[in-house]
Amino acid sequence: MPNIAVFIEQRAGQIKQVAWQMLSEARRLADAQGGEVWGVFLSEGGEAPLAAAGKYGAQTVFAAAAPQFARYDSELWTQAVAAFVRDHHPDVLLVGSTAMGKDLAPRLAARLGAACVSDAVGLSWDGGLVVRRPVYAGKCFADVVVTGAVAIVGIRPNAFALAERPTVAKAVTFAPVLDGSAAKAIVTKIETAAAGEVSLTEAEIVVSGGRGIKGPENYKLIEDLAAAFGAAAGASRAVVDAGWVAYSHQVGQTGKTVAPNLYVACGISGAIQHLAGMSSSKCIVAINKDANAPIFKLADYGIVGDLFAVLPALAEAVREIRRR
Ligand SMILES: Cc1cc2nc3c(=O)[nH]c(=O)nc-3n(C[C@H](O)[C@H](O)[C@H](O)COP(=O)(O)OP(=O)(O)OC[C@H]3O[C@@H](n4cnc5c(N)ncnc54)[C@H](O)[C@@H]3O)c2cc1C
Repeated sequence: MPNIAVFIEQRAGQIKQVAWQMLSEARRLADAQGGEVWGVFLSEGGEAPLAAAGKYGAQTVFAAAAPQFARYDSELWTQAVAAFVRDHHPDVLLVGSTAMGKDLAPRLAARLGAACVSDAVGLSWDGGLVVRRPVYAGKCFADVVVTGAVAIVGIRPNAFALAERPTVAKAVTFAPVLDGSAAKAIVTKIETAAAGEVSLTEAEIVVSGGRGIKGPENYKLIEDLAAAFGAAAGASRAVVDAGWVAYSHQVGQTGKTVAPNLYVACGISGAIQHLAGMSSSKCIVAINKDANAPIFKLADYGIVGDLFAVLPALAEAVREIRRR
């Protein structure tokens, strides 16, 4: 029976939502197949999140505390999680496909000689682990059968819904040996989003603007609708390349991958490279003045119209509904 470990990512004490989503999915698999669900948590010295992990079905949280875990360090964190895997032999280790997870998961796999599947959106068990991941910029899905020892799987944020399954999680501490002399890179500076800004990759709703907004001064229409929804504001590469907004807003193949419950594409044509970053959104709404724009082939709902008229009206309607 597979034991599934979930890496519970924290930055500055804030735990990423994807950790709870992965625990929910791990619990679902374990309920069907047997086996245990574990959390793995590294921190500077704070309490292991036992109550929250137990809420989503974790039976044990393995926690290590050290000053070196105050902020992410590729080498030391890899050493620590690798030590956990060597000592406790989970069959599967799930790691969120966040900026940190995308760095950590392949390093772990290389260190452990393990299989690594990145950016997964589905998990099943068919005599062994089967991992579903998008390929060809999101045009198809591949089901990858993982053989051999521990499988390290990167999970796309928002790919799995939260499901509460209250369990009393117990804490087990571990103390990995950390060798700082092996570090080949050090973090010198961390730039965080402005306070109050919703994280694009974790947001439940994303409103994105494309070249149809015509100029940087009109990006406020996107921000205004995003604020009305409590959403994150994204952009196509055309907008970023033109210098209208920062690269951190870019959605797509060479930007961020998002999978919110609702994605509103405004003045975006629907190039394959943009779709690669948002096609696994649960519901897609497109606003475009061209009824033949490719984005409408993917959209669940389409508004053919001028965004300069549609967006203010939509923002007002959303505010009105939320006031009730
Ligand atoms: C290697 C590579 C990587 C790339 N990576 C990315 C990526 O990560 N993300 C990404 O987005 N792109 C990426 N691109 C670029 C991509 O190919 C497209 O060029 C880009 O997505 C187009 O952006 P857009 O839809 O905003 O602009 P356009 O294609 O110019 O579309 C603008 C749309 O706005 C509509 N419009 C105009 N005026 C209005 C109005 N008043 N009201 C309503 N609608 C209006 C038009 O009908 C049109 O459909 C990449 C390209 C390459 C080659």
